[in-house]
Amino acid sequence: MSVGLGSYELQAQDVELELLHVQGQVYMVAGGGGNTTIMAGDEGVVVVDTKLEQASDELIALLDEHFDVPIRWIINTHVHGDHIGGNARVSQAGEFLTGGPAAIYSHIGVMVSLVTAEISVEPDALPGNTYSLPSMEFYANGEAVQLIHQPAAHTDGDSIVFFRGSNVLVAGDIFTLNNYPIIDVNNGGTVSGYLDALNNMLAIAIPNRIQQGGTYIIPGHGRITDEYELVNYRDMLTIIYERIEDAIDRGLSLDEVKAARLTRDYDPVYGSDTGFWTTEQFIEVIYNELSE
Ligand SMILES: [Zn+2]
Repeated sequence: MSVGLGSYELQAQDVELELLHVQGQVYMVAGGGGNTTIMAGDEGVVVVDTKLEQASDELIALLDEHFDVPIRWIINTHVHGDHIGGNARVSQAGEFLTGGPAAIYSHIGVMVSLVTAEISVEPDALPGNTYSLPSMEFYANGEAVQLIHQPAAHTDGDSIVFFRGSNVLVAGDIFTLNNYPIIDVNNGGTVSGYLDALNNMLAIAIPNRIQQGGTYIIPGHGRITDEYELVNYRDMLTIIYERIEDAIDRGLSLDEVKAARLTRDYDPVYGSDTGFWTTEQFIEVIYNELSE
C-alpha cells in the first residue's frame, strides 16, 4: 500500500472495465484498480479516482463512448496508485471549463504525500486544486459536489465525495466491501480515524423507508452498496476494536491476541491469510494503536 502509480501488478490486457448506472447523474466504473465514480451532465464529466495507470486508455475510451461531453473535473479520494494512477492521462484527455486539461481536486494530504514520495511523480498527475479546510465544494451539472476530509482514516488525505443532487456518496477506501478496514499507517491512517469516518458517512447517508436504497454508497473496492451494509461494517469494526481493547486490558500480548482469533465470526466475510492486507495485519494495527 505504498504511494505509487502502480502499486498493484496488472497487465494492460487484463483491464476490463464495466460501467454501471448508480442513481441520478452518477455511474460507477468497476475494474482496473479502485472503483471510479462518474457524474455526467450537460457541462461535462466529473471523474472520482482514475484507477491504475495501465487502465487509463480503457477508462478514457469508455467515457468517450458513453458520454458526449468532455472530462472537466477529476477528484482523488486518496493517494494510492490504484486510485490516482490515471491522473495525468485522464486529465490530458479532458478539458477544463476555462481551457487546459481537466482540473484535479484532492485534500492537501494527497499532494503532500506525492511531493514527498521517493518516486518521482509527473507534474500533470499532481492535484493542482487542493483544500486544507474540513471540506470544499463546487457545482457541476446543476448539483453540489462536496469533498469532505476524513482525518487520519485510511490515510491522512482521505476525502469522501457526496453528490447531493443524485444522492450518491463515494467512500474511497474508507469502505472496502470484502476486506477488513485497510489502515495505511505509513501514510497517516488510524483505526480511530477510520471509525470516525464510517460514522461521518452514516450521518450523511439516509436510507429509503424500507432500509434499502436511498443514499447509494460507492466503496473503494467492491459493488455498489447502501447504508445498511455500512452500518454492518461500522458495527464490525467497533466490535473487533472493543474485543482487542478488552484483551489488552487483560494483559494479552500481540501473539496471544492473534492466537485468540477474536475476529473469527467475521473472517469468512472480511478475512484473508494472503495478499497485501491480511487479518493478522489488521489485528496488529489495532493492537499497536490501542497499546500506545
Ligand atoms: Zn487505498
